[in-house]
Amino acid sequence: MTTVLGCIADDFTGATDLAGLLARSGVRVSLRMGVPTGPVADPAPFEVVALKIRTNPVADATAQALAALDWLRQTGAQRFYWKYCSTFDSTAEGNIGPVAEALMAALGTDQTIYCPAFPENGRAIFMGNLFVGQQPLAESPMRNHPLTPMRDSNLMRLLAPQVQGAVGLIDRLTVARGPEAIRAAMTRAAADRQAHLVVDAVANDDLSQIATACRDLPLMTGGSALAMPLPGLYLADGTLSADAARMVVPTLPASRIILSGSCSSMTNQQVAAYLAQGRPAYQLDPLAIAENGIQPVLDWLASQDLTRAPLIYATASPDSVRAVQDKLGVAAAGELIEQTLARCAVAARDTGARQIVVAGGETSGAVTQALEVDQMDIGPEIAPGVPWCFAQSGGSRIALTLKSGNFGAPTFFTDAFTTLEAA
Ligand code: ADP
Repeated sequence: MTTVLGCIADDFTGATDLAGLLARSGVRVSLRMGVPTGPVADPAPFEVVALKIRTNPVADATAQALAALDWLRQTGAQRFYWKYCSTFDSTAEGNIGPVAEALMAALGTDQTIYCPAFPENGRAIFMGNLFVGQQPLAESPMRNHPLTPMRDSNLMRLLAPQVQGAVGLIDRLTVARGPEAIRAAMTRAAADRQAHLVVDAVANDDLSQIATACRDLPLMTGGSALAMPLPGLYLADGTLSADAARMVVPTLPASRIILSGSCSSMTNQQVAAYLAQGRPAYQLDPLAIAENGIQPVLDWLASQDLTRAPLIYATASPDSVRAVQDKLGVAAAGELIEQTLARCAVAARDTGARQIVVAGGETSGAVTQALEVDQMDIGPEIAPGVPWCFAQSGGSRIALTLKSGNFGAPTFFTDAFTTLEAA
């Protein structure tokens, strides 16, 4: 199996989002945490490399993206996708433009498109201006983002200082006329030496037209939504054979653990809903752990019947989190809980847990690292943007789902296991 599309994502949750949308097609999607070091073994039709380069210095971000490209080329991929945030998170230095330009140079192509639109999530582009819901980007809360404050809504003006080549626009009027019109506009832009084309999209149908027109470009760039139609298009035009590797959902023992280190309001509701069912649960007390260590929770875990899906949680109300942070410090409290849950994950796996639910973005990072997971096959979606993933850990196949803060319904924890049973 050679890879049809090699994707590079600028952060971890963005990579999961992209992988999940590609996997909706039922085709096998593989997610790599960082650039793999070894030789390519068993590449999937869609490969996603998750980097963490959104706010790195430009030289470092481009070097990492080029290393990812080198690895992806070894999978046989000839088309590549540079995925960034649907709010175009970047500064005047980069990294969206510089990475795109470095990838273009390496691929020997002189034109690409930029389409961060994600209509289902309220991100739309009209006349090159990005909207978040009904607000222009620069009037949305992104205006005050701590690392990448977005103070202009016009994608051409945002991109121009980031790149050497000329920037152009394919507007909605052209997109609405379909793939042929889009391709003709790209040819005209190429004659004007426009290398970087922002493309308008306000609805999913626009994304389908753009994906149809651009599916054979060496490099496409955008948010995750533009990539969603690609598996279907590649299957329809024969680029991907009909017997291409399909998603395989392994049957794993119903030996389960839920680890929650998220204090977001939705996670608080999810924990409350689970507790209301009378499920076995252990609440972590950060102050007690700071004083007495983590043996008590490990002892509790060792006594549990994992088929009853016990929950270990630090999830707490904002007031109680603040009180803990005042005593321990924000970073120290966070680290303490993350490491405790990471140790619990390893202990649970070692006593047979094969279905592991993790709530919390940072918590997920700590848990995957402790479980030494460096590759995941994407499985069925539990909630929008939250798929089950299958990985090797400690010599066993495990199912893992990584839910960041506000994702999922209040019944997420039970939804997760029902989804896996039904798959
Ligand atoms: P989310 O996706 O909801 O932002 P994260 O895991 O990314 O969740 O972040 C939550 C942070 O809060 C983690 O660093 C976690 O260790 C920390 N934390 C969790 N519970 C508590 C608590 N009771 N007191 C203090 N910090 C906590």
